[in-house]
Amino acid sequence: MGGVYIHIPFCKSKCPYCDFYSYRCDNASQKKYVNALVDEIKTLRRCSDFLQGEFKADTLYIGGGTPSVLIPDNLTAIIVAAKSRFNIGDGAEITVECNPGSDISSLIPAFKKCGVNRISLGMQSAVDSERQTLGRSADKKRIREAINLLKDNGIDNISLDIMLGIPDQNEDSLKETLDFAIECNTKHISAYILKIEDGTFFDIHRERYNFPDDNAVCDLYNQCADTLEKAGFVHYEISNFALPGYESRHNTKYWELEDYLGIGAAAHSYIKGKRFYFERDTESFVNGKKAIFDGIGGDAEEYIMLKLRLKKGLDLIELQKLYGKKSAENITKKAPFLKEQGLINFDGKSLSLTTKGFLLSNSIIAELI
Ligand code: SF4
Repeated sequence: MGGVYIHIPFCKSKCPYCDFYSYRCDNASQKKYVNALVDEIKTLRRCSDFLQGEFKADTLYIGGGTPSVLIPDNLTAIIVAAKSRFNIGDGAEITVECNPGSDISSLIPAFKKCGVNRISLGMQSAVDSERQTLGRSADKKRIREAINLLKDNGIDNISLDIMLGIPDQNEDSLKETLDFAIECNTKHISAYILKIEDGTFFDIHRERYNFPDDNAVCDLYNQCADTLEKAGFVHYEISNFALPGYESRHNTKYWELEDYLGIGAAAHSYIKGKRFYFERDTESFVNGKKAIFDGIGGDAEEYIMLKLRLKKGLDLIELQKLYGKKSAENITKKAPFLKEQGLINFDGKSLSLTTKGFLLSNSIIAELI
C-alpha cells in the first residue's frame, strides 16, 4: 500500500532559515486552496497522466508549511476526502504537522473526528532563547501544554523536531532540549542539522549569528544520538529516532522506495518508478495545472542511497536480485576499508552506516556508488 502526502503551504510568519514553499495567507485564499486540494483528491485530474487504476494508502501525512494554521473545517474536509478516496482504513497512520504556537485546542475535535493518531510538533528547541532566534513564538511552557493537550485527547504518538546547529547552541542547551523531549515521554524525535539555504534571512545576515562550526555540530549530533539511545530510542534513520514500534510508517515509505502520492503545491510523488511534482505555486495548483514529470526513479544508485539512510542498511543479496551482480561488486570491494575506519558495519551480506558514518553519509555513499 502507498502513502499520501498533502502539502499546506501556509505559515503565520517566515522563519529565518526556511526555504520551504510557505507563506502567510488570509481565510479566503486558504479556502480556495483547500477546495482545490479536495477537488484533486476526488478527481486526481492534475496527476492523471501518472496514475493507473486505484491508489490505496495506509498512511496519510498532512505537512507544510504549518497545517495547524488551517481552519478546523478545512482540515476535516481534506482528511475526510483523502480517507474516502484512498481507502485509508482504521489501522492507518494519520499524521498532522503542528506548530506549538498554533491554537491546537481548536483542532482537537477535527483530529478526533478524522482519526488523526500522530502529531509531528515543530519544537526545534526547548530553550526559549534558541526558539526566538529561530523565529518561533511558543515558549517551553506552551510546548508542554500542547503535548499534554494532545495526550489528554488520546494522541500520545507525538514526534518532536529538534534542530542541531542553532546559533549559540552548545552541549548544555542541547541537553536541556533532549531532557525535555525524554521527560515528555515523546515517542519519536527527528533531529535535523540546520542547513543555511541561499537567500534565507540566516544566509543574508550570517555575520549577526554565532553558528556552531562543523566540528561542534558533529559533537551535537553525537550527543543527540548517545542521549536518545540511552533513553531507549532506536536511531532508525540518519535524522530519526523512535521508541520501538513508533518509527514513522509514512516517512519509511520514502526510504524504502515505496509508492507515495503528493498532492498540493510543491508536493512530490513517486509512483511505479516515476517521479512527478506540482509547481511551487498555489495559484497554478488552484487553476488546475497538471503535475510535472520528474524522471524515472528507483535505479540502483537511488536504492543504495535511500537504504543506507536506514539503520538496517542495505541487503546485498536483495540488491543483486533487483539490479544484477555488478551493482554489489563495487560495494563489496570498498566496504572493508570503510569498516576499518569505523564508518560502516559490514558482514559480507549486508552493510549499514555507523553513527560516525551517518555524519559522513554523503561522502560514503558517493564512494560506494
Ligand atoms: S514554520 Fe516551518 S515551513 Fe513555516 S516558515 Fe517556519 S520553518 Fe518554514
